[in-house]
Amino acid sequence: MNWAYDRVERRDVSADEAVASKQRYRCPNRICQGRVFLSRGDYRRAHFKHYPGEGKPSCEDYHPGLYIPQSAPNFHEDERIQADRVGFELDIVGKRRLDWNLKLRIPRSDTEHGSIVMRLGPGPDGLRELQLRAIRNAAGAFDVIPCDEPIGIVQCTPGVPASYREKLNPGSITLPQSTCKAFHATGISRLRAVGSKLYWGVSYYFIWKTSAPVSLPAFLNPEEINQNHGWRCARITLPNTVDDALAEQVRDLTRLETTRSKAILSIVVPTGSKEID
Ligand SMILES: [Zn+2]
Repeated sequence: MNWAYDRVERRDVSADEAVASKQRYRCPNRICQGRVFLSRGDYRRAHFKHYPGEGKPSCEDYHPGLYIPQSAPNFHEDERIQADRVGFELDIVGKRRLDWNLKLRIPRSDTEHGSIVMRLGPGPDGLRELQLRAIRNAAGAFDVIPCDEPIGIVQCTPGVPASYREKLNPGSITLPQSTCKAFHATGISRLRAVGSKLYWGVSYYFIWKTSAPVSLPAFLNPEEINQNHGWRCARITLPNTVDDALAEQVRDLTRLETTRSKAILSIVVPTGSKEID
């Protein structure tokens, strides 16, 4: 392995610039982060090694350029969400449809080589590695535990083509910490996150962090369902008539504009999707 995370300099360093130390270096693969040490032989150039029995198959593939930095919430970015990109989905479940699950949709992969690391929840347990061959023929949807940490793809291996890496765009998939995330209430399950606009006369689900300063106006007829890991969820219906004051309140709540629809909206749900646990 040519790279390791240097705990002193707080950055990835190459083996050529490293010093002998038992504690200083960690595996830069985010799903591993195991202890590594510098190895210098007479015949092989300097490299990092895991301690025996540690490390994962993807560790050898790590290269610093493949780390995808997580950006701060950017709701203009959100408007660019497309159907074949990484995005959030909401499942309303249970007999009385009072429970909900948040999912991360990963678009179908064009290749079976390589793997990605997803953050699906808080802490080290929230990271999960996915071999792209698992989503070679159909998109995947993975359960997310809503949390403060940015959800999404945190790393991919060199085998992942640039065209697919672009679909993993992480900027659009951060959960808002002080406002609501809106989902289309049309459809039975796997409700898509609203990309750019809300429409008068249409119903949506809003989710928000319990500690966020959110209070839904009675005008929206909120019907709240059960909480999930400290997040709340309510179905709301926007009135049919344009209401400027309400539009402003909704903008504060969601960072989204509300417009009048010119045509009947239809939400397209991909038929080729499958669930992976
Ligand atoms: Zn490792």
